[in-house]
Amino acid sequence: MSITVFSHQYCSLHRVSEVHPEEPARIAAINDQIIRSGMEFALTQKDAKSATREDLLRVHAANYVDDVFERAPTEPDQHIWLDPDTMMTAGTLRAALYAAGSGICAVDEVFTAENRRAFCSVRPPGHHATWDAAMGFCIFNNIAVATAYAMHAYGIERVAIVDFDVHHGNGTEDIFLNDERVLFCSSFQHPLYPNSGTETISHEVINIPLPAGCDGPTWQAAVRERWFPAIDAFEPQLIMVSAGFDGHLEDDMAQFKLTETDYHWIGRELKELAERHCEGRIVATLEGGYDHSSLGRSVVAFLKGMQ
Ligand SMILES: [Zn+2]
Repeated sequence: MSITVFSHQYCSLHRVSEVHPEEPARIAAINDQIIRSGMEFALTQKDAKSATREDLLRVHAANYVDDVFERAPTEPDQHIWLDPDTMMTAGTLRAALYAAGSGICAVDEVFTAENRRAFCSVRPPGHHATWDAAMGFCIFNNIAVATAYAMHAYGIERVAIVDFDVHHGNGTEDIFLNDERVLFCSSFQHPLYPNSGTETISHEVINIPLPAGCDGPTWQAAVRERWFPAIDAFEPQLIMVSAGFDGHLEDDMAQFKLTETDYHWIGRELKELAERHCEGRIVATLEGGYDHSSLGRSVVAFLKGMQ
C-alpha cells in the first residue's frame, strides 16, 4: 500500500500575476521535493479529472456556479475579480474544475483501490470559498466538493474534516455548519484573515484560534486536547484534510512557527485515527503554503507521516 497523489497539469493554467504568491511554481516545488527526497518511489501518481456541475452544486449555490462559468475569461489578456483577493484569468476555470475534481478521484481511490490515503497536489485552493462566494484565492471549495461526493456516492454519514492551514477554513465551516454528518476541526492564527471562527457555536465545529508566534509544541498540545477526543467520539467513516502549510516558520504569510516535524506528526496522528475508525481512509488536499522550499519539505514530511 502507498499514498496516491492526484494532480493535473491544468492546475498550472491559473496565473494571477508574476508576483502573486498563489502561483503555479508552488506545485512544481512540491514535485521537485518529492523527487529530491526519493519519495517518488513510495507514491502512486495519477492525473485528476474535472469536477462536473453536479459535483459543484452539492456545496455551492447554482447562481454562484453559473456566475463563475459565465464570467470566466477566455482570452489570454482578460481577467476578472470574483472578490478583492480572487482573480480569474483565461486558465482559471479549468484549473479550478480539476482542483475540485481531484478530491473526487481521491475519494474513489480510498474507497475502491488498495491505497487508503490520497493527497491532492492542486491549486487554486478551496477552503475560503463559501456556499455562494469566492474568497481568499479560492473559487470552488475543493474539500467540501469531495466530502459531499463521498457522502453521496458511498452513503457514509460521518466525515471528519481537519484543516491545519494557518487561516480559518471559513468556507468549509459555512457550507457544513448545519450538517451533523460533518465534524469540522480547524486550527488557525487569530487575529488574521478572514478573522472568523472565534464566535462559532456548534457541536460539530472544533475551532482552535491561536496567537501569532504559536510554536509546534503549543499547536500540538492544543490539537491533541481539542481535536483528537472529538474525532474519537465522532467515529468518522472518512477523514478529509485541508492541508495548508502556510503556518511554517519560513512562510511569511502568517506568524506561526511550525516546522516539518509538526506536519510529520499530524500526518502520523491522523493515520492512527483513520486506522482506528475508518480502515485508514484519508483524503488530503493542498490549501495554502507560499514559501516554496518549506512547502515542498512540509508536504513530504506530511506524506511520510501518513505512510
Ligand atoms: Zn492559508
